[in-house]
Amino acid sequence: MEEKKIILEGIAETGFERIDKFNGRRTKSLASLYRKVLLNIGEDPCREGLIDTPERVAKAMQYLTHGYFIKPEEILGASRFHEDYQQMVIVKDIELYSLCEHHMVPFFGKAHVAYIPNGYITGLSKIARVVDAFARRLQVQERLTVQIRDCIQDVLNPVGVAVVIEAKHLCMVMRGVQKQNSVTTTSAFTGCFLNDNRTREEFIHMIGVKLH
Ligand SMILES: [Zn+2]
Repeated sequence: MEEKKIILEGIAETGFERIDKFNGRRTKSLASLYRKVLLNIGEDPCREGLIDTPERVAKAMQYLTHGYFIKPEEILGASRFHEDYQQMVIVKDIELYSLCEHHMVPFFGKAHVAYIPNGYITGLSKIARVVDAFARRLQVQERLTVQIRDCIQDVLNPVGVAVVIEAKHLCMVMRGVQKQNSVTTTSAFTGCFLNDNRTREEFIHMIGVKLH
């Protein structure tokens, strides 16, 4: 498996070159804010267990939102190959971790992505990286689903794209309504997945998901 590295310099990335450094200025400024957060929730930021916490959280938060510095169109564009294959390509069960933009609490689950090539294919791992690039930002599941679909449609111009995401939202599980087992399913289609019921059903069947 490809080693997870982080991008965080935030400026001159080529779109998908990941580097393992955190932006020092941003880490410092986030850490000082998290120190205030600790105070405001009634903690003592000076007690032993919390001394390094603001800096750790600052780095974790930069990691969890590193998608802002990745350009998914470039990831796909850089590995676009001419190929006459015209059947459905499905990448299912792509692990997905994101943060809901309303509570900044995780939601996580799986993405299933399919497309039918129209002269061009891409590396399968690139599809997963596109999912990750959009997921590692503050998101709502609906927008995330559509952004993945549109990116693939725009760059590969396939006959159709299908994206289904199933996710659990900790903001529902840990707080609020506390519906522990609820899973949210969203879907977005283009082209033949939209116009041709049989194509869409074949995809739904292959990924084994019930669309509500
Ligand atoms: Zn939420």
